[in-house]
Amino acid sequence: MPDGRLDARSLDLAGIRALVEGQGNEDWRALQAYKYAWMPGVDSFDQVRTIPKATRRALEARAGLSSLSLAARLDSEDGTRKYVWELQDGGFVESVLIPDEDHPGGRRLTLCVSSQVGCAMACSFCLTGDLGLKRHLSPAEITNQVRQVQADLGAQRRITNVVMMGMGEPLHNLEHLLVALGNMKHEHGLGLSHRKITVSTVGLVPAMQALMSRTQVNLAVSLNATTEEQRRQLMPITRRWSLAALMEACRGLPLARGRRITFEYVMLRGFNDSLEDAARLVALMQGVRCKINLIPYNENPERDLLRPSDLVVWRFQDHLVQAGLHTSVRRTRGRDISAACGQLGGVELLGRRATEGADPSARWRAEQRERARRGEARRIDDGRGDLLADGSPEQPPGPVAESAPSAS
Ligand code: SF4
Repeated sequence: MPDGRLDARSLDLAGIRALVEGQGNEDWRALQAYKYAWMPGVDSFDQVRTIPKATRRALEARAGLSSLSLAARLDSEDGTRKYVWELQDGGFVESVLIPDEDHPGGRRLTLCVSSQVGCAMACSFCLTGDLGLKRHLSPAEITNQVRQVQADLGAQRRITNVVMMGMGEPLHNLEHLLVALGNMKHEHGLGLSHRKITVSTVGLVPAMQALMSRTQVNLAVSLNATTEEQRRQLMPITRRWSLAALMEACRGLPLARGRRITFEYVMLRGFNDSLEDAARLVALMQGVRCKINLIPYNENPERDLLRPSDLVVWRFQDHLVQAGLHTSVRRTRGRDISAACGQLGGVELLGRRATEGADPSARWRAEQRERARRGEARRIDDGRGDLLADGSPEQPPGPVAESAPSAS
């Protein structure tokens, strides 16, 4: 909290129990306080008259209940809604609410949630990556996105699914993510089923293994390529954990019965959308319980990347389906409000443009090209060490580079 107290919404039940230590009957009092911390309309423990006064005082002395400040709410013509949250330190993050009336499994109302301000992973197709990592979100800042959007919707509309696919790499913020997921799933927290929560990752292998051994959620892996070189160009993290190591790890993950890993595949025209790519993708999936989600790229002025035609996407999907892979194509949603996949972070980028007076994406690309020309490694530094530890020279990222394959 800004006043130096703990944030009770960043604590799990055990953490709340520590707050009421010495009050007697701690297990009961902790559960009571925990319930109220997540109850709609409660902003401080002092409001809750059913908690004994002495306990309320102890709680209030040690912890508060944080909320995010809503900076903007943008509605797309297709029903998608973007929430822009201003954080206490002046940063911004975004959440995207996506209604889906036609989902085969029944109506869905999915919230796409952010885990970091910016992102260290620098995937070349993603605008959030241009920001670099500013900081991790606290558990409360992650869970509050769900709590506050639900409050905004009111009792008539319930969020049915949560996907950790907003700004940031969730597994780069693993410990905070685990607390947040626990509070989303707890019956006295937000009460979401683990079957309705999906965590997406670029493939931080040890963190993937830790996530799946410490909690139950659905896992989505952002794959996007079928060869090591192709993936290195799109996703610098491939230099740390290769495509082969990633697939090996996926084969060994403990999956509950009937569960599959979702592999997201952003399709870029002339880069990874050929039938040869489709055949390689089929081979990569051997031995993995999987489903494939094809995401035709959302073109935007910040990138020279192109979306494949519908026919190319359909052919690609058909090849995978014929090979027995469960494959869907993600519909583009919220493009008119920059809420589509890979477009989040606009407010932060605009702020940076205003202070730097130039297109950060173009300058970043030029810097990377220059560094690659000099044979220097591009380093992804999150302030706590370099995620790309081997330091070998790197190609400029993605098909924006001069060496990228030409359009088909
Ligand atoms: S795609 Fe995800 S992991 Fe990659 S830069 Fe964007 S936010 Fe980060």
